[in-house]
Amino acid sequence: MKREELILACTSDIAGKVRGKSFPASQLEKRLKRGIGWTPTNVQITCFDKIADTPFGSFGDLVLIPVEAAVMRLPEDGAPDEVLMLGDIRYTNGTPWEFCTRAILRDALARLERVSDLTLNGAFEHEFQIRDEAPQPGTAYSAAGFRQWRAFGETLVAAMRDNGIAPDTFLREFGPGQFEVTMDPAQGMAIADQAVILRELIHAVAARFGKGATFVPIRGPDAVGNGVHVHISLIDANGDPATHDADGKHELSRHAGQFVAGILKYLDAFTAITAPSVVSYLRLTPHRWSAAFNNLGFRDREASVRICPVSDISDLARARQYHFEFRAADAAASPYLVLAALVHAGAQGIEEGLSVPDATQQDLSLLSPEDLAASGHKRLPQTLEQALELFATNETVAGWFPEGFVDLYVKHKQGEAAMVAGLNPVEQCRRYEEVY
Ligand code: GLU
Ligand code: MG
Repeated sequence: MKREELILACTSDIAGKVRGKSFPASQLEKRLKRGIGWTPTNVQITCFDKIADTPFGSFGDLVLIPVEAAVMRLPEDGAPDEVLMLGDIRYTNGTPWEFCTRAILRDALARLERVSDLTLNGAFEHEFQIRDEAPQPGTAYSAAGFRQWRAFGETLVAAMRDNGIAPDTFLREFGPGQFEVTMDPAQGMAIADQAVILRELIHAVAARFGKGATFVPIRGPDAVGNGVHVHISLIDANGDPATHDADGKHELSRHAGQFVAGILKYLDAFTAITAPSVVSYLRLTPHRWSAAFNNLGFRDREASVRICPVSDISDLARARQYHFEFRAADAAASPYLVLAALVHAGAQGIEEGLSVPDATQQDLSLLSPEDLAASGHKRLPQTLEQALELFATNETVAGWFPEGFVDLYVKHKQGEAAMVAGLNPVEQCRRYEEVY
């Protein structure tokens, strides 16, 4: 039968889901101007599809305008390409809708440039698992694992490259059917656009192989987590690296140190954004190489912010390699919101002129409660409920977002939490695994 190419104009929403409406590709020119019709209440569609408490009800009209720079295209033999185009949600008069996740990130990036003249350089590192794979002991990082999944990996890497995402590594991670994919850094909005597109490419390529991929933060209380690590550095107006200073504390430049300090100062109050599901908090526990404590680590893979290693034998100069990663995020969160929170926290740290925190040199999870208290470090929030409470009551963090956003977000997340409230953690993970 004949087929005609469709393009999905879409947004990565508060639930971290990509949702939109499709139109025939022949209409693209018109849709780039007019967009497609959208409804304010869509923002309260939770990851389980039930609508949380909404201030908008059945009222209001918006347009979702696809952006050509944020396209995902995956060819299919004998059929039209699969095409997704991320977009901006606007009022019908063209002004940005304040709760559009892309608009929220755009504001954050503009603030960073205002306070520092610096541009964000970065990349999302993703982990995911193939569902319904029987555990295969002995395959983590192995040649056998590589061989078994080589066709999948090679297809994914080719699709990334064709979509303007420079592949860096693809590996068979530690957990059953678990993979990690890294990419080269991009700048500003493209960092988040590429993260969203990569997730969709992984779902789409897995489906072509007859598999289901899941980015669920964790598949069970005893499982290994699927983390999202956000690698960050700063570049100046000339395009030169601005993260490294050989004489700075932990070799961080003044602005990079303040940026990191801002993240850690406000992290507890914005964890609800970066680790936004009920089961995210099963992952943010010790001994999982995720992030359990609010701390800066020097090379420590359990710190919420880690200064990443540099190599003396690399072809890249030390200053260009120098960067840090944020580890307390997962893929239940929209990359736009994760990045917006991090950039606002960093810009806030620069504005406040914060000093660089000490990096922890020991495993905090091995300390007694007294020694932990004496070290000045605390666990990150331990439930979504606690994280939402800290988010809702921090006026500085609330001020980073458009008026009404905190209330909207908390209602959304409370609605989501209510849908898994009666379930035990194993069942909760299973429910989340189905939707991410
Ligand atoms: N799976 C770990 C996480 O949940 C990360 C492991 C790694 O360091 O790549 O964040
Ligand atoms: Mg990993």
